[in-house]
Amino acid sequence: MSHSYDLHCHSTVSDGSLAPEQLVAHAKEQGVDTLALTDHDITAGIVDAELAAAREGLRLIPGVEISVSWLGQTIHILGLGIDPANAELQAGLAGLREFRRQRAEAIAKLLEKKGIKNALAGASAYAEGEIISRTHFARYLLELGLAKDMRDVFKRYLVRGKPGYVAGQWALLEDAVGWIHSAGGQAVVAHPARYKITDSKLRQLLQQFKDHGGVGLEVVSSSHSPDERARMARHCTKFDLLASSGSDYHGPSQPWAQLGRCAALPEGCTPIWETW
Ligand code: AMP
Ligand code: MN
Ligand code: MN
Ligand code: MN
Repeated sequence: MSHSYDLHCHSTVSDGSLAPEQLVAHAKEQGVDTLALTDHDITAGIVDAELAAAREGLRLIPGVEISVSWLGQTIHILGLGIDPANAELQAGLAGLREFRRQRAEAIAKLLEKKGIKNALAGASAYAEGEIISRTHFARYLLELGLAKDMRDVFKRYLVRGKPGYVAGQWALLEDAVGWIHSAGGQAVVAHPARYKITDSKLRQLLQQFKDHGGVGLEVVSSSHSPDERARMARHCTKFDLLASSGSDYHGPSQPWAQLGRCAALPEGCTPIWETW
C-alpha cells in the first residue's frame, strides 16, 4: 500500500484559510495519511490538529515554518517532529512574532503614504490568530480591488522595491536550527528553488545549514517544477540531506498548491520519513 505524505501546510493560526481541524479533515479527504502542520513562526494550531487527526485516523506531525534572514534573504526552515512545549523554541518564535507586529505597523504606514488607508485594521481582520502575515495585507488589498489576484498583489505592493515592502529581520539560521533541535525536531530547508539566489549561494546555504545540524531539503513542493525537483534531489545526494515533500497548502486563494497533491520524490532520494 502506498502511503501519502504532506509535510508542509498552513492553517488560520498563521496565513492559511482553514482552521486546524478543517485542514486535517480536508487532508483526510485528499487521501493524506501523514500530515505535518507547519504554520509560520507559531505552533498554536497543533493541539487542535492532533485532536482532529486522532478522530480522522491520520498521523499528525507537529511542525513549524521558521522565518530566517540569511545574507539579506528571507529563508524558511521547517521544523518537523518538534515538541511544541519546548521553552527554547517558544521563546525564539515569540521574538519573531514581535517582529511581525512591528513590521505590520510599518507596512501599514508605508501603504498609507500611497493613499491606502486602514491597512493595519484591514489586514488584522483577515488574521484569525496571533500572526500578521503579508498574506493578510494581500487579502485586504485585493478586497480594495487593487490587484487581480494573490500573485499580482504581491508583485505590485509587497515584495522588495514595492510600496508596502519592509525588509525582514528574522532569526539567524543557526538559531532556527538550534531551536528545532532543542525541541527534538528535524530541520528542513523549505522550497529551496524559490529563493532568488544563485546555485553557488544555495550550496553555501546548504553547507552552513548542514554544519549547524540541519538534516533535510524540501525536494517536492508545489512551487517547484520537475527540473527544480531533480536539481534539489542532486543537492540532497551531494550534501547527504534527507528529502522532504510538502504542498505548502494555504487554501483556495493559492490554487497552485493543493493539499496532499505532492509529486513522487525523484529516484535516489532518501525520504525523511524513513528515519521515523
Ligand atoms: P510573510 O512571512 O508575512 O513575509 O509572508 C510570506 C507569505 O506570503 C508566504 O508564506 C506566502 O504564503 C505568501 N507569499 C509570498 N510571496 C507570494 C506570492 N508571490 N504570491 C502569493 N503569496 C505569496
Ligand atoms: Mn504563507
Ligand atoms: Mn515558506
Ligand atoms: Mn509554507
